[in-house]
Amino acid sequence: MNSKNDRKSQDGNRSKELPLTLARRIAELRERKNLTVRDLAQDSRFSKERIEDIESGLETWLSSTDRQLLARALAVDPYIIQEVEARPRLEESEDPERYAAILADLTDSILKGVKEHECPKCGNTLRCRVQEGLDIDELPVYFAKAFCQKCPFILK
Ligand SMILES: [Zn+2]
Repeated sequence: MNSKNDRKSQDGNRSKELPLTLARRIAELRERKNLTVRDLAQDSRFSKERIEDIESGLETWLSSTDRQLLARALAVDPYIIQEVEARPRLEESEDPERYAAILADLTDSILKGVKEHECPKCGNTLRCRVQEGLDIDELPVYFAKAFCQKCPFILK
């Protein structure tokens, strides 16, 4: 995980001097903008408690929607936040039941029309779509499909 972050942080100059944990980076970015926790909560539409959780390291990663809201409120590229997120990776072999549950949730929300998701394996963006087919009675059936742009994860 660290080697990936090291490589990424060498790419851009903007994030070089920023703290390397999500908690400290969010606090630093907030202070640079002269925002209080309350201001940031208001601008990002997070609760004040949630900002405190993030800044104290209780939350270590964000959904892409939340990340975008927070990035907008802090006036940074979402990547600046994402590169220091620490996400528990989920391997099917570690917990097959939970893995299946996560895939079921993923399937469900793709079928509800959500187009972008976090890859459950690596956290990068999944490309999602709904494929329409016909069942044996020629009634329409819908399948959720997704593939990761960074790792071999596929939902089919
Ligand atoms: Zn992935």
